Amino acid sequence: MGQLFKEYLSGDLIYCCSICKAHAATHDQIYAKTFQGRFGPAYLFNHVVNVCLGPREERILMTGLHTVMDIHCSSCFQILGWRYEKAYEEKEKYKEGKYIMEKARMDVENIANLFIRNSWKSRQQVASSHVSECNCAGVLLDALESAEVCGCS
Ligand SMILES: [Zn+2]
Repeated sequence: MGQLFKEYLSGDLIYCCSICKAHAATHDQIYAKTFQGRFGPAYLFNHVVNVCLGPREERILMTGLHTVMDIHCSSCFQILGWRYEKAYEEKEKYKEGKYIMEKARMDVENIANLFIRNSWKSRQQVASSHVSECNCAGVLLDALESAEVCGCS
């Protein structure tokens, strides 16, 4: 197979593949956080990088029939989610061309607070104290994000 070109993103908060840590998307590409993937909660992104697409298929999702393509990490090939190719209902059309990424398959690279990622206990504490202070629990990705990065305080 050919040489892999890996794109590196910059930003305060970067979502990456949970296995190989290849960058996938920046925080500002999140369109919505209230989606459901195969493995639990998922985010909808406007744009992602370092993914390759699986075959087009018709799939019945919670919001009806869609044509989708699975997205795989282009480095380790785990399935990260899917891309909406076509929605058949008018109110679902906004999803076309956007990407679902499973929270369970993402990790977060937090440039401002890398140390938080090195200790599960401390990031749990950061997360729980943060949730009680502000109301942005939806921003927390498996308790990885801290008050400094959610930007809501
Ligand atoms: Zn990967």
